[in-house]
Amino acid sequence: MLMKREFYINGAWVAPSLARDCTVIDPSNEEGCAVISLGSQADTDAAVAAAKAAFPAWSATPPATRRAYVVKILEQYEARKEELAQAIAMEMGSPLDHARGSQAPCLPWHASNFLTAFDQIEWVRPLGPHAPNDRLSLEPIGVVGLITPWNWPMNQIALKAIPAILSGCTCVLKPSEESPLNAMIFAEFCHDAGLPAGVFNLVNGDGAGVGSQLSTHPDVEMISFTGSTRAGKAISAAAAQTLKRVTLELGGKGANVIFADADDMAVERGVRHMMDNTGQSCNAPSRMLVERAIYDRAVQIAAQVADSIKVGSAHEEGDHIGPVVNKRQWDQIQGYIQKGIDEGARLVAGGPGLPDGFNRGFYVKPTIFADVTPGMTIEREEIFGPVMCMIPFEGEEEAVKIANDTPYGLTNYVQTTDGTKRNRMALRLKSGMVQTNGKSRAAGSPFGGVKSSGRAREGGILGLEEFLEVKAISGWDPEAEASAAE
Ligand code: NAD
Repeated sequence: MLMKREFYINGAWVAPSLARDCTVIDPSNEEGCAVISLGSQADTDAAVAAAKAAFPAWSATPPATRRAYVVKILEQYEARKEELAQAIAMEMGSPLDHARGSQAPCLPWHASNFLTAFDQIEWVRPLGPHAPNDRLSLEPIGVVGLITPWNWPMNQIALKAIPAILSGCTCVLKPSEESPLNAMIFAEFCHDAGLPAGVFNLVNGDGAGVGSQLSTHPDVEMISFTGSTRAGKAISAAAAQTLKRVTLELGGKGANVIFADADDMAVERGVRHMMDNTGQSCNAPSRMLVERAIYDRAVQIAAQVADSIKVGSAHEEGDHIGPVVNKRQWDQIQGYIQKGIDEGARLVAGGPGLPDGFNRGFYVKPTIFADVTPGMTIEREEIFGPVMCMIPFEGEEEAVKIANDTPYGLTNYVQTTDGTKRNRMALRLKSGMVQTNGKSRAAGSPFGGVKSSGRAREGGILGLEEFLEVKAISGWDPEAEASAAE
C-alpha cells in the first residue's frame, strides 16, 4: 500500500494540517492501493497563499521562460511515463495498454498543442486598423483553482495546469479523490522541472471540503472545473459570492447519427468508441441513432461487436476494457441497466451483473439496448458506463430532433458519405463539438459543450485564453513601443 499523505504546497511536500486518511481503492480487485489525506481549510488556505505570493513574479516572468518550464515538465514525462500509466491503471481501472497508449499520453499531446498555440499569442495586440492608438493587453487572471475528475485524469490536469502555468497564472489543483496518484506524479514533474515554488500546488480532498473551499476562496480568481453537472452547478453557486470566473466541462449524452449511406465500419466504430475507457467518457457516443433502412442490421452488428469486447483487470496487458471506477458507479450503472429493461428497451448484448468469470472488481458487461425511445431514462441520463442505446429514425428531420432533445450538448457524431448532408447536420446539431465519419478533431481544436455540458473551451489557443483577462488600452504610443523594441 502506497502512503501518499502529503500535499505539494509552495514547492515542498508537506503534512496535512489535520489527519484525515482516505484509502484509494483499486477497482480491478477492490483492494486498497494507497492512502492519501483529505485536506482541510488550513491546507487550502496555505496552498492559495503560496499561489498568491508566487503570482507577481510568475506573471512577470517572460513568456519564453514560462515556456521553457513546460518543456522541462515534458522531459520529466518522457522519463517517467510508465510510472504514470501504472498509477492510472491502478487507481481508476484503465487497462495498462490503454493507460500507456491513451491516458498518460494526453499530457504530451495537450502540452505540445498548447506550446504551438502559445507561440502565436500576441500579448499586446492592436484593436484594429480604425484605432491606431488602442491596444488589447492579455494578462493572466491570477490564482486559479483546478478541480478535476477521475475518468481521464491526466487529460484533465494537462488541459488545466499547462495553460495556467503558460499563461502566467499560479494554481492549486484538487484532483479527484478517486484518482490522486497520477496528479501527485504530475506535481513531482513540476518540482523536478524546477518550476518556482508556489506556481503549482496540489491539495487532495473531496468536493465538500477542498473543492468548495477553493470555489468560495476570496483569493482565487477563477475555478476551472471538469466533472458532473451536479458539481458544476454547486461550484457556480459557491463561486458567485466572489464573482470568480468559472469554466465548466460537464457531462454528456452524445448522439451518433448513422445514416443509411454511412460507411461499412460506422456501427462497429461507434460501439468501440462507446466502450472505450469502459464507457466513462463525457463525450461517449452513448445514443446511436440509426436510419430505419439499416436499423436491424445495425443492431445485429452492434450486439456482435459488444459481445466480442473482452473485460479484464487493468493490471493485464491487452485490448480489453477494465472495471468501472468504484462501487457507487457500478451500482448506478446496474440501476440504469435494470431501468432500461423495466422501461421496455430491448437488451441485445450484456445486461445486469458481473461478467462471467468475475466475483470481485467493478466489472460491467458491455451492454447494448435496442428499440430505445426518446424520453426513456437510459436515453436522457448520462450512464457513464459501457451501456449504449440504439434508437431508430426516419430521415434527417427526425434525427436532428432526437439528437438535440437532450439537456446535454457536448459532442455529437454524424456518419454519412454524403458531404452536403454531413456539413448540414454538423451545423444543425446543438453541441460544442461535432465529429463526422470517425475523424478526430485536429490538434488545438477546442473541447467543450453547451447547455448542461458546461461552456468551457479547453485545448489550443482558446484553452489558453480562458486563463487570460483582456485589458483595453487607449492613447497607446506606437512610436514609444517601436523604440522600446529596438
Ligand atoms: P464529480 O463531479 O463527482 O467530481 C469531479 C471533481 O469535482 C472531483 O475532484 C470532486 O471531488 C469535485 N467535486 C465534487 N463535488 C464538488 C463540489 N460541490 N464543489 C467542488 N468540487 C466538487 O465527477 P466525477 O464522478 O469525478 O466525474 C464524472 C463526471 O465528469 C461525468 O459527469 C463526466 O461526464 C464528467 N466529465 C466531463 C468532461 C468534459 O470535459 N466535459 C470530461 C470528463 C468528465
